[in-house]
Parts: sequence; C-alpha cells; structure tokens
Amino acid sequence: MVSWNLGDRPASGQGIVYLVGAGPGDPELITVRGLRRLQRADVLVYDRLVDAALLAEAPPHARRVYAGKSPGRQALRQEEINALLVRHARAGRVVVRLKGGDPFVFGRGGEEAQACAAAGVACETVPGITSAVAVPGAAGIPLTHRGVAASFAVVTGHDAGDDRHDWSALARVDTLVVLMGAARLDAVAALLQRHGKPGATPAAAIENGTRTGERILTGTLAGIAAQAAAAGLRSPATAVIGEVVGLRATLGAMPETPAGDEQAPAHVAGLCGSHRNPR
Ligand code: SAH
Repeated sequence: MVSWNLGDRPASGQGIVYLVGAGPGDPELITVRGLRRLQRADVLVYDRLVDAALLAEAPPHARRVYAGKSPGRQALRQEEINALLVRHARAGRVVVRLKGGDPFVFGRGGEEAQACAAAGVACETVPGITSAVAVPGAAGIPLTHRGVAASFAVVTGHDAGDDRHDWSALARVDTLVVLMGAARLDAVAALLQRHGKPGATPAAAIENGTRTGERILTGTLAGIAAQAAAAGLRSPATAVIGEVVGLRATLGAMPETPAGDEQAPAHVAGLCGSHRNPR
C-alpha cells in the first residue's frame, strides 16, 4: 500500500518551495510525490525540458512562469529565478519549481535550495529520475551489468576541452554518460581516445529520450560523433560510452508495439525497456 506523506503542507499562511524533479521527458516518469506537489501549486516555475502534460497538472489558478534555458539562451537569470521563488513563498504561496530529470543533476537546484535557506524560506526537494540513468535505460542500455560494467560516471560535455575533468580517470570508468554534449561529442570522443579508451568501444547517442521523437544512434566511440552530426542530432541528447551499449541488442528486442497502445511513441516499438502503460 502506498502511504501518502500528509505532513507536506506548510503551516497555514506560510509559503513553501518544492524543488521537484520532472523526470527524463515522458510525463509518466515524474514521481508520485512530485505529481502531488505539482497538483497543489499556486505558482509553477518550470524549465524548457518539462512536458506540457505536466504543466496541465497544476491547478487552473496556478501562475505558470517559464524560466527555461535553451542552449545559449536563458529566459530568466539564475538570480532572478532564486528571487522569484523566495518572493512567492514569502507571500504565502505554494511554489513548485519543476526541473527536468533530477533537480540536483546539472540542474542548479542546489543554488535554488541555498537561496531559500538563506532567505529563511521552507524548501523541500523531491528527487526526480535523472535522464543520465533513465534515457539510456529506456533505450535498453543498463549503466551497469554483471560481468560487463561495475562503475559509471556522468559528465557534462559542455566544457570538454578545458581542464575541468580528469579525462584519463574518466577513460577508465566502465560506462561514461555525457550530458549536454550534443555539440561537443567530437571533442569528448577525441579526449577519451587520447586518454586510452579504445575507439572500438561501443557508444550510443540518444536524442529526446523517453519522449515522442526519440532517436537512438549506436556505433563506436571513434564514429559516434560523425554519426550524430550526419543525423543532425540536437539537444537534448545523452551519450553513453561503454560495453553496456552492446547489451541493447538483447535487452531492447521485443518485436511489436502492444496493440491499442496509442500513447506509445513510435520509438517504443521493439523496446521492452521503455513501454509506457496506456492511460
Ligand atoms: N537535471 C537533468 C539534467 C539537466 S542538463 C536530469 O537530471 O536529467 C540537460 C541535459 O540532460 C541535456 O543537455 C541532455 O544531455 C540531458 N537530457 C535531458 N533530457 C533528455 C532527454 N529526454 N533525452 C536525452 N537527453 C536528455
């Protein structure tokens, strides 16, 4: 039996900020708690990668504020977002800050929680399913697998090329997941090969994972960047490098889309790992 947490309501008259992870894309992949918080929002502050179906879950009276960033452009600066959350909570409102994936994985959720703490505003984090794990998983690529991979790391490809990461250490991790790397896949692949990762290592690049329009490319570390460029792969995309990519052939091989499941996007055909329940 699911036991609902009924202690979530702030003391009467006091506002609160819920920092909620929306999951990787498919609106059914938000958590139960995240959805329940969303359904109580007076103010919903949301990001670019949040599905419209989730925005519709907020009450009709809820004020909806877009705070999204697209690569290179941002609707609101981070300080403005922080100030907005604090201002509405101080006015006694239930504020839901809905962010793609998990709020604390490359999501700047930590800064927003710190801003609330500094302002003395109540804030609760509702973790989300991060795309780093779920996008490969739904595509039939487990990040670990007995006898194949016993470690994984998640890095941003955004700053590939500067000295921020220890690429020789990353090259020795069994499975590497690269977020925000759609435009830098060539640089990431070159760095990993220079630090000893064999060019023949299986690799995948997944655009719009778990969403309608999902595209999955598989190949090798040496070739994946050229494949992605040729296919015009765009953000949001997640890359996976490691022997686990080879498991997709066995984990993702179910021949048909279940009859009558009209909600399933085209990509679901054949993937046992990403089948959605009909609503
Ligand atoms: N907090 C988010 C990540 C934010 S960074 C999380 O935990 O998932 C944004 C990056 O996440 C994108 O550039 C992309 O690399 C990845 N991403 C998010 N949604 C994705 C999706 N549906 N398919 C593929 N990659 C995705």
